[in-house]
Amino acid sequence: MNAEPHASLPTVAADASDWRWQLQHAVRTTDELAARLCLTEAELAGARAAEAAGLPLLVTPYYLGLIEASDPACPIRRQVVPHADEARTVPGDLVDPLGEQAHEVAPDLIRRYPDRALLFVTDRCAVYCRFCTRSRLVGAGGGARSEERLAGAFAYLESHSEVRDVIVSGGDPLAMSTERVLAVVARLRRIPSIETIRLATRVPVVLPQRITEELLSALRPHHPLWVMTHFNHPRELTEASRAALRRLADAGFPVMNHSVLLRGINDDAATLATLFRGLVRERARPYYLLQADPVRGSSHLRTPLDTGIRLMGELQGRLSGIALPKLIVDTPGGFGKVPVGPDYVLARDGKMTRFRSPHGVEVEYWDP
Ligand SMILES: *Cc1c(COP(=O)(O)O)cnc(C)c1O
Repeated sequence: MNAEPHASLPTVAADASDWRWQLQHAVRTTDELAARLCLTEAELAGARAAEAAGLPLLVTPYYLGLIEASDPACPIRRQVVPHADEARTVPGDLVDPLGEQAHEVAPDLIRRYPDRALLFVTDRCAVYCRFCTRSRLVGAGGGARSEERLAGAFAYLESHSEVRDVIVSGGDPLAMSTERVLAVVARLRRIPSIETIRLATRVPVVLPQRITEELLSALRPHHPLWVMTHFNHPRELTEASRAALRRLADAGFPVMNHSVLLRGINDDAATLATLFRGLVRERARPYYLLQADPVRGSSHLRTPLDTGIRLMGELQGRLSGIALPKLIVDTPGGFGKVPVGPDYVLARDGKMTRFRSPHGVEVEYWDP
């Protein structure tokens, strides 16, 4: 490994209930991982490759504790344990699937829409997901971006008042110190045209201990702040992560969830229904179900488009509207997100449209 990823954190953290302890004791090497799980040959090879180059290996003890040590098909494990298949590339694979480099309008600021922009504030996460869209840069070095490095992005936002919504991402902004998160949020809040700030974070899932009263009371004065989180499987809804979601909701943060559709992990209707209902129960809104981006080395975790469309058809009409996310394809090259789903229009003829209801009934609708 290069530099100690969280060197700026205090060296003494009390115990496993302390988020800094979790980061300091995170698993970062093949040997540490092999001591905790019975790794298959393919996982061992994948872990050694990850240690040597590319997207590094990193898992918090908390998230590691959710893994079935002897089950290679465990849905938690497959998200974070490297695999030899990461070395495989297939047609359509891209290093930067969302064309973010081409849409960088200032250092670390990506703009693909008139009213929104995405700001990278760090390249570190609490856990590295093997399907990461930003595997090209995550964990690559640099850590939390300094005020000076972000100065160009802030200047851009100041002079482009049509940007009303800034997504603070990375890396994971909540893997930074409270001081750093607060500095970024407070700086954005000094730009009057920015109405909404979203924190894009997997911390409620992989490091729920991080959602402390200290963090919440530091951020609360800067509302409206939305939290975009990333639960992929119902087994991630533990007592600890559910309590973190409740703390966020109680502190006034609307919580939206992105799930990524992943092969052999959550690509069945029953798993998704349990996940979405469990999120709603904790006041987190299933926002997007994302078709996995064609990022290089993730083909073994991706599903065909038809799988997502079929699953949406199975869930529509069965799940409450507040529990049903949109299925989204983030178009390769960075041309924006498009919703996809089953077609409920069977025919159109002049003023008449014939629909198929979610339960299979054919219904005519007449325009006035
Ligand atoms: C996904 C994304 C957004 C936000 O899209 P919403 O549909 O508003 O959630 C904004 N900017 C970039 C660059 C994105 O990738």
